[in-house]
Amino acid sequence: MPHTPPPTPTATLVEQVFARIDSGRDDLVALTRELVRIPTINPPGDAYRVCAEALGERLRRRGFEVRYLHAEGAPGDDPRHPRLNVLARREGVRPGPCVHFNGHIDVVEPGAGWSVDPFAGTVRDGRLYGRGACDMKGGIAAAVIAVEGLLAAGIALPGAVEVSGTVDEETGGFAGVGWMAEQGLFSRPRVDHVIIPEPLNVDGICLGHRGVWWAEVAFTGRIAHGSMPFLGVSAIRAAAAFLAKVERELLPALGRRLTQMPVIPPGARASTLNVNAIHGGVAEGMGGYPPALVADRCRLVLDRRFLIEERLEDVKAEIMALLDAVAREWPGIDYQVREIMTFLPTLTAADAPVVQALAFAVQAVLGRPAALVASPGTYDQKHIARIGHLHDCVAYGPGILELAHQPDEYVVVEDMVNAAKVMALAALRLYRLVG
Ligand SMILES: [Zn+2]
Repeated sequence: MPHTPPPTPTATLVEQVFARIDSGRDDLVALTRELVRIPTINPPGDAYRVCAEALGERLRRRGFEVRYLHAEGAPGDDPRHPRLNVLARREGVRPGPCVHFNGHIDVVEPGAGWSVDPFAGTVRDGRLYGRGACDMKGGIAAAVIAVEGLLAAGIALPGAVEVSGTVDEETGGFAGVGWMAEQGLFSRPRVDHVIIPEPLNVDGICLGHRGVWWAEVAFTGRIAHGSMPFLGVSAIRAAAAFLAKVERELLPALGRRLTQMPVIPPGARASTLNVNAIHGGVAEGMGGYPPALVADRCRLVLDRRFLIEERLEDVKAEIMALLDAVAREWPGIDYQVREIMTFLPTLTAADAPVVQALAFAVQAVLGRPAALVASPGTYDQKHIARIGHLHDCVAYGPGILELAHQPDEYVVVEDMVNAAKVMALAALRLYRLVG
């Protein structure tokens, strides 16, 4: 006769939480739809208050203490587009760690190419479509359902649990997680472990990201009549000379530099440079054509993504060296570099408690090992690491990485349910309620 061992108390606890999450499936879909239907497009930062309140009032009804945190005077903050974050906290019954779930409520503009209404939250074939469904309102909803599952199962949590919805991640996060970190809201002893349900695939735990150096390079030359270009110095030709050096010298060198960080997709394991924009010549006037002039200005925007093995000084110096070479070869050309945004790479240790807890939970829920990955682009973890000095932070969520910012973005409902279970089980591990 087959022998079935009696359930252990621990198994019963986990089973209860999972049963709550399974029975909350429709609620999870409804919450995601509710959030997707609030068009929190950034820039400019629309409807932040509506979205923050939708999350905050729901959690208030679950016994959370809810604060709305207005990043007054932060970049982008104005009366029409207040930078409003929500932070919900529920104290535990005895001392213990604080587990924090953070998601950004802003989405990028939908752009063209949609076959469904990007703000309807259409559900079809087990997928929920909409701008932000994947990045990352589906992740926020999964985290909320995970936390509610823990509470509904009647578990007396130690420490505290926090859920935050923050703004402006898509434009750097300065008025969101960055601002909150400056207020001490992402530091010990207030917070111990942070999970950000960004879309890095339901079995992926994202340890960190590459660095970014964004800069504008402005070349200036000398204006002259277009019929006598030899009397001027063309800033466009100087910019072209610079780009030729980038093609010939820099890009091949960057392509050979590979990081040990597990960045996905694998193409992003190399160091990269993108030219985001080029604008040259004087403004185009009548008929949409510029006048007959030698261009005395040309501007490039560079997006340099660098590796944890590279130093920021070197990243800048190798571009400066190419610019200096152009200036030497082109008498009459001057250039200026303006830094737009710089973030250093960040990487949480693979043996950090939050990583171990999530890896255990992914294996338990999905029956396969978690993939430890890193992100090609930056996300709010940088602020928690650099400003909050909290290094037990990762991204883990249900969305599929490649769908972020795409038309017909969607999140798989089954992935949201599984991610909610993973997050709930990981929290139980971090609270030391399961062995
Ligand atoms: Zn995101």
